[in-house]
Amino acid sequence: MTRLPTLSASSYDFEMAAVFDEIEKISEAKKSGEIVVGLQFPEGLKKHALEIASQIRKKTGAAVYISADPCFGACDLDMRLLEKCDLFFHFGHAELKQGDIENKVRFIEARSKVDISDAVSSALALLPERIIGLVTTVQHVHHLDQARLILEAAGKTVIIAEGDKRIAYPGQILGCNFSAAHSDEIDKCGALLYIGSGQFHPIGAALSSKKRVICADPFTSDVFELSDRKFLAQRSAVIGNAADAETFCIIVSTKNGQCRKTLAESLKTKAETHGKTAFILFMDLVTPDQMLSFKADAFVNTACPRLAIDDSGRYPAPVLTPQEFEIVLGERSWEDLVLDEILEGGQD
Ligand code: SF4
Repeated sequence: MTRLPTLSASSYDFEMAAVFDEIEKISEAKKSGEIVVGLQFPEGLKKHALEIASQIRKKTGAAVYISADPCFGACDLDMRLLEKCDLFFHFGHAELKQGDIENKVRFIEARSKVDISDAVSSALALLPERIIGLVTTVQHVHHLDQARLILEAAGKTVIIAEGDKRIAYPGQILGCNFSAAHSDEIDKCGALLYIGSGQFHPIGAALSSKKRVICADPFTSDVFELSDRKFLAQRSAVIGNAADAETFCIIVSTKNGQCRKTLAESLKTKAETHGKTAFILFMDLVTPDQMLSFKADAFVNTACPRLAIDDSGRYPAPVLTPQEFEIVLGERSWEDLVLDEILEGGQD
């Protein structure tokens, strides 16, 4: 018999009591007929899908459908499954405070249960600055007050800044929105402390704030100063490879929280002003294979900003961010390179 990974052993809180309560409320409102519940998970949490579905079925009697398509963020709701459900649970991300999110969607953030105190205490050795800004992903956002207390006990002043309206919590950053790391308040900080895993978020925070960033990973207790040297070398190579491009394809995603058609149109106009040829491609999931048929010299990505960075080198031609495209056209200097962001009002 297959053993499903147990939820209690996971490092994340799936808030099953709240999930059952929400289904109960919908059942009472519907009065008759079976309740249909949809579930969607990012790749890292999909291993828990079957256990969560079977608990829901056992506890509530609801029919459960699981979205199996790739999912990378709250920008990426499975709209076709959502249409078929009375209630839809999206796990692993906070609600994006923007766009047309249907009222039958519930966001279960799957917050980390891992203690952050060792990692934050270790980070103090790398933080001589007096004023420290705190940033993190939604998985650790509920631990920011605890981090603040640790830093304040060491004599620091701590700033946890609000992001723009697309961001659910103070101090939270997304791979496409670092507004909590470059607000006016953050200007006062000597350095930022990023609590979390991975390098993409702290690189975005560093480039947008122009501050030194110390990373503290609660899962491994690793603490280190971020270096963006490798990242900048990679982007410099991509920009260099696109320097002589004449024909560009500009990618627009149809995903609910990523679509930036107006930006794509303005980039097309810029290309044409510089005597280049540009086409706009609409697609849902952006993968290197889908680009093979389009014989462009370079692509410009207006979909999830992480695509151009994370999958760099897997595409048939250089994939630029909008800001890198401006560098290629000579409209922006290399010193002004920042990560692409989808900020409040940036979707259409
Ligand atoms: S656009 Fe990309 S970085 Fe932003 S929420 Fe979606 S998946 Fe995450």
